Amino acid sequence: MDPNILPDNPYLLLTPGPLSTTKRVRAALFRDWCTWDDDYNGIVQHIRARLVRLATERPGYTSVLMQGSGSFGVESVIGSVIPRSGKLLVLANGAYGQRIATMARMLEIDRVVEDFGERAAPDPGRVAALLEGDPGISHVAMVHCETTTGMLNPVEAVGTVVAAAGRTFIVDAMSSFGGIPLTMEGLQADFLISSANKCIQGVPGFSFVIARQSELEGCRDRARSHSLDLWDQWNTMEAGHGKWRFTSPTHTVRAFDQALAELDEEGGVEARHRRYRDNQALLVQGMRGLGFQTLLADPHHSPIITAFHSPDSPHYDFGRFYQNLKNRGFVIYPGKVTGADTFRIGNIGDVHRGDIERLLMAVAGVMDWSGRV
Ligand SMILES: *Cc1c(COP(=O)(O)O)cnc(C)c1O
Repeated sequence: MDPNILPDNPYLLLTPGPLSTTKRVRAALFRDWCTWDDDYNGIVQHIRARLVRLATERPGYTSVLMQGSGSFGVESVIGSVIPRSGKLLVLANGAYGQRIATMARMLEIDRVVEDFGERAAPDPGRVAALLEGDPGISHVAMVHCETTTGMLNPVEAVGTVVAAAGRTFIVDAMSSFGGIPLTMEGLQADFLISSANKCIQGVPGFSFVIARQSELEGCRDRARSHSLDLWDQWNTMEAGHGKWRFTSPTHTVRAFDQALAELDEEGGVEARHRRYRDNQALLVQGMRGLGFQTLLADPHHSPIITAFHSPDSPHYDFGRFYQNLKNRGFVIYPGKVTGADTFRIGNIGDVHRGDIERLLMAVAGVMDWSGRV
């Protein structure tokens, strides 16, 4: 399939996934695969090995692919790794941390939820105190980049505390893995979750988990769901050399393999991080120049997505702002914080400096002479 004959997208997605992909990634969708054939299973094994190498150079780690969006991957970990006698500490500072707490509640897992508020980062000192005060806590879960606000959470510092206390550490690195340099050992993570349609820049359809193998091996018969049994999925992939238990998203998997090749072509995670970071800095500078204010102070910002305060004007209407920008070729994202009126602009995906420059001109173009949008 020649990627050049594919039509251009009608607009650029400035959203935290699904995101704008390259034509070469979309072209990879154009053929069918047999789920038990070696051709396909070889791709799965290649992807699994590549994901582990992206996350660490050390031995002792493995990966599992799981059907469904990112949340399915998080739920498969939460539901599969905590024993009945265990207890989960959830560190929350936004909707995605709270989603982990909801999963734990619905799975009836014994838990403690520590909410730091949407504009504050989880505090490692507080985590140390909680772990010391409650020896029953066996696992700690937190989000790396809290996509609600765009905040980059101090996972390394928390990971150090969790490891020192001898507990298992689960990191939702959904919106950061592949876009921000990290290692399993640097984070002291035992389980790390991400998905196909975030910084690796594939299309949606599956999530993946990178795990310390010795931890995962101990999770047999722990799962609270059959479809989302992480150990069973891993065991089947290992034994069947890339076989999934149930129907796998074959086209999405093939496109993801192409996306991984393009990550290498770009220069790996470091180079992609640089592009995201430079684009986010340009976005913030440009939006401030137009009178917008960010929700977070600069040190908290991730290069992934940025939350802006809605203009303090009775004439502002998000729906109109959104539609006007969409007409000019850009789709932005609504806000998600509870305490403030915001909108968000993501810059992950096949988005480049020129796109941000054109976006800023479009934003200026939809504001009237008095600066109203
Ligand atoms: C995108 C995302 C998820 C998963 O969301 P899905 O809609 O299920 O793909 C989970 N956590 C974070 C931090 C995310 O950004």
